[in-house]
Formats: sequence, C-alpha cells, structure tokens
Amino acid sequence: SAKNPHEPEFMQAVHEVAETVIPFIESNPKYKQGNLLERMVEAERVLMFRVPWLNDKGEIQVNRGFRIEMNSAIGPYKGGLRFHPSVNLSVLKFLAFEQVFKNSLTTLPMGGGKGGSDFDPKGKSDNEVMKFCQSFMTELCRHIGPNTDVPAGDIGVGGREIGYMFGQYKRIRNEFTGVLTGKGLSYGGSLIRPEATGYGCVYFLQEMLSSRGEDLQGKVVTISGSGNVAQYACEKATQLGAKVVTMSDSSGYIYDQDGINAEKLAFIMELKNVKRGRIQEYADKYGVDFIAGKRPWGTKCDVALPCATQNELNDKEAAELVKNGCIAVAEGANMPCTPEAVEKFHKAKIFFAPGKASNAGGVATSGLEMSQNSLRYNWTSEEVDEKLHNIMKDIHQQCVKYGCDEKGFVDYVKGANIAGFVKVADAMIAQGAV
Ligand code: NDP
Repeated sequence: SAKNPHEPEFMQAVHEVAETVIPFIESNPKYKQGNLLERMVEAERVLMFRVPWLNDKGEIQVNRGFRIEMNSAIGPYKGGLRFHPSVNLSVLKFLAFEQVFKNSLTTLPMGGGKGGSDFDPKGKSDNEVMKFCQSFMTELCRHIGPNTDVPAGDIGVGGREIGYMFGQYKRIRNEFTGVLTGKGLSYGGSLIRPEATGYGCVYFLQEMLSSRGEDLQGKVVTISGSGNVAQYACEKATQLGAKVVTMSDSSGYIYDQDGINAEKLAFIMELKNVKRGRIQEYADKYGVDFIAGKRPWGTKCDVALPCATQNELNDKEAAELVKNGCIAVAEGANMPCTPEAVEKFHKAKIFFAPGKASNAGGVATSGLEMSQNSLRYNWTSEEVDEKLHNIMKDIHQQCVKYGCDEKGFVDYVKGANIAGFVKVADAMIAQGAV
C-alpha cells in the first residue's frame, strides 16, 4: 500500500484475490516463478487526461478522464467506462484488476482494462452529454482500437453515451471498426448485449441452486439498483418464476410485495432509460412503499442480488439477510459486498457468487459482439443467449473445480480467483518478462 497511497478500493480488491491465490501459488511450484502476482497488480499503462467541454450556457467545464490498461496477456484490453462523480484512480484500478480475472473466466481472449470520468451525467442535457463524450473520445481515441483496447459501458454509460463516443471515434480515425461494445443494433451492436449482465447473473444463480436441487420457482428476490444490470436481473428472475420485491437507486428503495412483474418492469425501464427519473415515482404510481435513504437488505428474501455499486452491502446487512433465511447472494455489481459481509455468508454456508464470476456475462457478450464485428455477421438472439448461457455454466464449473472443499462446500471466491489467475499466469509465463 506504500506504492498506492489513498487507493482503498484497489487495495480491497487485491487483498481479496491475494488471500486465495497466494496459498495456491505456494502449493503449485510452477506459479512461483516470475513474480506473477507482483506483475499483475501493476497496470501495464495508466492514462489520465483533461476533458474540457462546453455546457449549455457556453461555459467551459473540466473533468478528468482515465483509462487503466491493466493486463493484455490473453487478449486486447477490455472493460467498461464509468461516468460517475465518485470515479477516481482507486475505483478504476480496482475495477480493472477485477476485470483481468473476470475476462479470463469467460473463456474468451480478452485482457483487462477499465476507464471513465468523474463527469456526472445526472441533470445534464443530451447536448451536454454529447459534448462531453466527444471531448472524452478526442483524447481516448489515440489509445484504443479494435486490436488494442475495446471499452464498453458501465455505471452512467449506456447506449446513448456509447453512440456519441463511437461517432466521434469514427470521425477522427476514419474507420468503422468494433472499437467499442454495447453499440446500438443499427451500427454493429449485438442482440442480448443489454440483457447480458443481468441474465448471466441469474443463469449463474440457477447453476448454484441446481447443485442442491433447487430452482427459482416461488423464490422471493431482493435487488438493489434499477439500472442496466438490475433491470435484466429482475426480468430473468421473474421469467424463471421468482418474485422480485425490491429495486433501488441512490435515493432509496421501493418494496412491492406483489412482485415487479413484466408490466411494472417496463415502467421502470421507461422511467430510468428514457425519462431518467427517480425510482420513487414507481411507489407513487403503484401505491407501494418507498423507503428513502435506505438499502433493501433488511427485507426478508430467499435470494439477494446487489446490482448497484461497490461496498453497498456491509456485514450488519449480511447478518440480517442470513437471519432472515436468505440462501443465496449473487453479485450483479462489482464488489458490492464488503469483505466482512462475504465472511458472514461463508460462515453461514449460504451460496455466495462474487461479481467476477456472476456478472461476467456482460463482458462475455461484449466478446461475442467483437467476434460478430470481425466476422461482419450477426447472430440471432437465440444464438447469443445460448452462448451466454453456456459461458455462465462453464464459469460455474471452473469455480467448482478450484473452489470445492472436501465436504463439498464451494467457495466461489476462491474458485473464481484461482481459475481466473491460472489462464493469465500461463500466458504471462509463456511470454516472458513483459
Ligand atoms: P447503471 O448506471 O445502469 O445503473 C446503476 C444503478 O446503481 C442505478 O440505479 C444507480 O442509482 C445505482 N447506483 C450507482 N451508484 C450508486 C451509489 N453510489 N449508491 C447507490 N446507488 C448507486 O449501471 P449498471 O447497471 O451498468 O452497473 C451496475 C453495477 O454493475 C456496477 O457495479 C457495474 O460495474 C456492474 N457491472 C455492469 C456491467 C454492465 O454490463 N453494465 C457488467 C458487469 C458489471 P442512481 O441512478 O441514483 O445513480
């Protein structure tokens, strides 16, 4: 930590991986060579740049842009862009580090990266968002490319932002290539990409449950967030017979004891993706409770899916979930559960899926978007969905392979970390001191 002062999120992510990977290295001499872990925690390249843009009043605004190119041992850097006022070097280094292991787990050839800005899209006009995206890409475009680094969306970066950035890249570089994923269908996007992270998370959950002969039928599910991941986790869980009773945003959560069905979810999608409103409006429309300033983890449930942001579920909340009979937690977001919360889940022997395994469906489908762009061909929804489903099953198996103890309990954190590490480590050993 002396090398990386003031980077608590990055330290947290590295610590969690080191805890499980160091004992594995100790007992597998092949991985003792070449300072592998020490190299993996050092980004290959960190870019930080000024992003000046004109607001609607004609005033110059300044934000900070970032791209962390963490590891390219197994493929071009790949990972999302986040636009949120909380973005800083520590947050993006934690996300880039996690991304390396996640991308390795997907079975596809993608290295790890992450980027973004402290720009806050909330309350900005479309015009301002476009101006910002164009300025951001004006600098970023010299560092990325379809065979170098392929960014995607994340918090605050959805279809609108990807479109503006793609347009600017194309204009400056004079090339139409798959340099970003999460593109619109009319200009190179993949079917099922918007759904992929949420669907994938629920597919992973299904795999965990079915290992004990359980399924989602009749299960009560709590979800946090109401953005891209939360919406499609809700959709897939509901399709599989579960009842989703909560969703949230940074102002609080709604509790709907009848469940958020397809019609109500359509309202949330319109509210969040088009009108860019607040989740409280759901409570007003359907006459249910809105609990301001709180997170949903005190609600009784069988399954919890944190899908908003990092460190949004602490040890107290974990204890409450366990006490209320929750049997499974699958992370849709990146690192939403604190280390102390994860410890509580492990102690209680309930299913716990870390984000790098359970939310890998998003980047996996981005990988499928890259393949389709290279082929200049599009697969159908069914084809992409089936590939996504198979990838999530494969990730689950890799976690079991490296995470199962002699009593049959699967530590998915350990399993995901070691499986992700092995592939990247093998490639780094083969490539020498780079
Ligand atoms: P969106 O921007 O679509 O939605 C984010 C949601 O989380 C919103 O409801 C937002 O509420 C809430 N939220 C964000 N920050 C905070 C905060 N600090 N406190 C409370 N609530 C917050 O993002 P995504 O759905 O794409 O991403 C959600 C999570 O999933 C992130 O951790 C992301 O890294 C992860 N992820 C996303 C993938 C993807 O494909 N999109 C892939 C893999 C992981 P509000 O509107 O009030 O800000």
